Amino acid sequence: MHLIPIPAFSDNYIWALHDGSRALVVDPGESEGVSRWLAQQGLQLDTILITHHHADHTGGVAALREATGAHVIGPTHEPMPEPLQRVGAGDAVEVLGLRFEVIEVPGHTAGHIAYHTPEMDGHPLLFCGDTLFSGGCGRLFEGTPAQMLDSLTRLAALPDDTRVCCTHEYTLSNLRFAQAVEPGNTALADYAARCQTLRAQNFPTLPSSIGLEKQINPFLRTREAAVAQSALAHEPGSANDAVAVFATLREWKNVFR
Ligand code: ZN
Ligand code: FE
Repeated sequence: MHLIPIPAFSDNYIWALHDGSRALVVDPGESEGVSRWLAQQGLQLDTILITHHHADHTGGVAALREATGAHVIGPTHEPMPEPLQRVGAGDAVEVLGLRFEVIEVPGHTAGHIAYHTPEMDGHPLLFCGDTLFSGGCGRLFEGTPAQMLDSLTRLAALPDDTRVCCTHEYTLSNLRFAQAVEPGNTALADYAARCQTLRAQNFPTLPSSIGLEKQINPFLRTREAAVAQSALAHEPGSANDAVAVFATLREWKNVFR
């Protein structure tokens, strides 16, 4: 099985899996790049997985379904390009011989879901849309800080070697913020240096892993003393429970340059 990020727009990745003949794509915001890739590789599109309703994740679904007859799977509680199979918490779907479990991760949007497969070529794999990014997390358009923290906490509980396939290449700007929050985190400094090298050569920084994100992502580290102290210094007088720290970090990140 092969895992490939197909670049789209300015900073999206449309993640693709294929077994040499059939392919799966996740969140095709546009169809052209996917169609070109399928033709180049001689692949048949079997299934499209969707994590949430934003146009940069769904814009190419109708054209791809029309061109390929692919089966479309998406979240129960979001407006979606019909017809599709709707899935929610506790559901599992079988695609290309892999079993994907559905995790509901509200916060970025109200009905956002993630897809997790426990084993693909020896490691778990996670398609998490705009919920977890490397070094960051999605903006709270439709959810509360408590919901998003809960969603991220459930993703962080997946095995450390889970490959994390996020939908945007936001890593470098996320890491600038992460370093403002945790200037003393040496794992973070090392990772930032590695990512700068990758981006300078136009390579993706993704997939990341759950184990790495737990070391470097401030939004998964709200219970760390250094992170709580930074949040408190930014927002004096705020509470220092995990939800309040998370809320402060998210608002701080929104205005961070
Ligand atoms: Zn989004
Ligand atoms: Fe997006």
